Amino acid sequence: MSEFYKAKRGADWNFGGSKWKLSRSKIDLFMECPRCFYLDNKLGVARPRGPAFTLNIAVDKLLKKEFDIHRAGGSAHPIMKKYGVKAVPFNHPDVEKWRDNFSGVQFFHAPTGMKISGAIDDVWVFPDGELIVVDYKATAKDGDVTELSDTKWQNQYKRQMEIYQWLLRRNGFKVSMTGYFLYVNGKTDRKAFDGKLEFDVNLIAHKGDDSWIPDILDKIKKCLAGSEIPKAAPECEFCAYRESAGRSFRESLIYAKENRNADHKTRLIKIDEKRSADKKSESTASLF
Ligand code: SF4
Repeated sequence: MSEFYKAKRGADWNFGGSKWKLSRSKIDLFMECPRCFYLDNKLGVARPRGPAFTLNIAVDKLLKKEFDIHRAGGSAHPIMKKYGVKAVPFNHPDVEKWRDNFSGVQFFHAPTGMKISGAIDDVWVFPDGELIVVDYKATAKDGDVTELSDTKWQNQYKRQMEIYQWLLRRNGFKVSMTGYFLYVNGKTDRKAFDGKLEFDVNLIAHKGDDSWIPDILDKIKKCLAGSEIPKAAPECEFCAYRESAGRSFRESLIYAKENRNADHKTRLIKIDEKRSADKKSESTASLF
């Protein structure tokens, strides 16, 4: 087994364990496939992680540094001025914690008894104290990215923002319905790389609706509290592959065991035959 993939986590990290919490990405996993979610959160077998998007991480890091300069100075970033957003980056003592993947913005949801968390990219604030959730997105596409479409990924982005808005509201903040995606698009139409990648930067507004969240939390709690393994997502080919691979492994092990047993039996028969042949020749020899 790969040293990078630990198939089973300690029970502490599963539902009911002291370290378990329901992150924004886990909510999304449930919406994508309740069975994968159950396997991960209840049985402790997470999906293998894909490769890290290191370029996106680098862009995120630099954007955070850039907005932090304005946060410290209480000034608006040029992109906010360009798009007429009359706000500044929010200078709150918990911003670092909210941005950390291991803590994030947290809220204990009493009706389900689950701790919900989500790590935000940024928060801006209007002069009246209303907050704006901001999410950085880095991509490299032909043309300008000026709006979010109705694709699986972009709907996931919208839900992501709505969860952050919900979490901040539950923490007692007044949060604007409108959040922003700060979209940076790597330009591939330049003459040469020349040691740098240039980006177009756009601000895309999204009017969030968090009304779906309590209902999904309820469904998640029922799924985790039950002992029934949810059905596989019909459009996913991996479960069928996994089951068929597991069945083939089992069959091949049984076959190998049967062969070993058969070989063993044959060996025993041969030993018996040899022994009786030896005895026979001994008794024949004693006649002479
Ligand atoms: S259907 Fe796909 S996504 Fe769901 S549990 Fe199976 S492998 Fe995971």
